[in-house]
Amino acid sequence: MSKPFQAIRGMNDILPGESALWQALETTLREVLATYGYREIRLPLLEKTELFARSIGEVTDIVEKEMYTFADRNGESLTLRPEGTAGCVRACIEHGLLHNQNQRLWYAGPMFRYEKPQKGRYRQFHQVGAEAYGMAGPDIDAELICLSARLWRRLGIRDVTLQLNSLGSSAARAAYRDRLVAYFEARRAELDEDSQRRLATNPLRILDSKNPAMRGVLAEAPVLLDHLDAESQAHFEELRTLLDAAGIAHQINPRLVRGLDYYCKTVFEWVTDALGAQGTICAGGRYDGLLEQLGGPATPGIGFALGLERLAALLAAIGQPGADANPHAYLIAAGAAAQRRGLALAERLRDQWPALRLRMHCGGGGFKAQFRRADQSGARFALILGEDEVRTGVVAIKPLRDPDGQQLTLSPDQAAAFLGAALDAPPRS
Ligand code: ATP
Ligand code: MG
Repeated sequence: MSKPFQAIRGMNDILPGESALWQALETTLREVLATYGYREIRLPLLEKTELFARSIGEVTDIVEKEMYTFADRNGESLTLRPEGTAGCVRACIEHGLLHNQNQRLWYAGPMFRYEKPQKGRYRQFHQVGAEAYGMAGPDIDAELICLSARLWRRLGIRDVTLQLNSLGSSAARAAYRDRLVAYFEARRAELDEDSQRRLATNPLRILDSKNPAMRGVLAEAPVLLDHLDAESQAHFEELRTLLDAAGIAHQINPRLVRGLDYYCKTVFEWVTDALGAQGTICAGGRYDGLLEQLGGPATPGIGFALGLERLAALLAAIGQPGADANPHAYLIAAGAAAQRRGLALAERLRDQWPALRLRMHCGGGGFKAQFRRADQSGARFALILGEDEVRTGVVAIKPLRDPDGQQLTLSPDQAAAFLGAALDAPPRS
């Protein structure tokens, strides 16, 4: 026999036992996004490679070494999206969604990065992202942060902290860049190989290094926040005032630079200690130059993306249950006549109670085997049809989770009413 296939390293199956938690998570995210007026945009998984190179930046980890890039049958270079902002901006420009209008959008789905797989870091992972276009002031920055804070509250997540920084204008960053290069040049011996290379190409990215050996040299590096331009400074101050007014605690982290090139002014991350090294569950920032850079109108933008694997792990760690996916009832029918009656009864119950989760036994077998399946299913009730029930036109209902529960014999109408009451849901009119 040949060896069974395995999934590609770093690409996970989300199994039926986990999907209830994912669905509950996704439902909450969708609901909260909708209440703030964000609308969903669905985007392709593939884009032209050039789009990512131009937006994320040539000298970033993602573009240098993490993209899944290949030539299609026409020889065109395509890339599996490593993040959602580039495609979202591309779509808005392409479809004219930015002409004299603001947009509040969200997207969800898998992203692909060729990273070293480890806990909380995968090669296919899932993000939900929110993006707002056309609003330049700190009010929308504050709104996005309030929205994300509400997500954590709705999900029952407590131990997360908001880290905040400003990257200033591109002019302020250019001036800061010179200071930083001078500082790192003086301490070149303490930089790792990657960082020495970046000194020439993208020195700011050195601050984003996760190499523990470089902690010392990074800790003493000059801080961009001390060299902000006046406008960015005012933007940052007003954002902090707005967050204070909304009761959202935040820490300033002057070393927060974010891995992508396109950010300016506000950047933020939500971080937890509960997940080990991969503790950032949500990250975002402002990217006022990006839309114009990709050929669109000069339009400010800001957004965040959150990592669903990390959120799901966090919810599991704090014992947050997913939606209950067990059946309410499991229908047991022994014998050909009972099976026919059973199918008709099941369909009738489903017509009457759209929310009823009713699993019908298929595959034959006697009562004993069918009861075993009913038990395994986690159902609250077994509906039982045997020869006697068929002959007298009734159905037996046996509670499976309540040791004191009595088995009842009911007419089909009574059985429907009984299940409806157990469901606690209004019938279809
Ligand atoms: P990190 O610093 O952890 O590599 P990043 O800055 O590359 O994160 P973003 O591109 O900002 O991450 O993505 C936003 C969020 O998506 C992250 O905060 C994280 O929750 C999630 N995420 C990013 N990369 C991965 C990955 N490889 N596996 C799982 N989740 C990820
Ligand atoms: Mg990364």
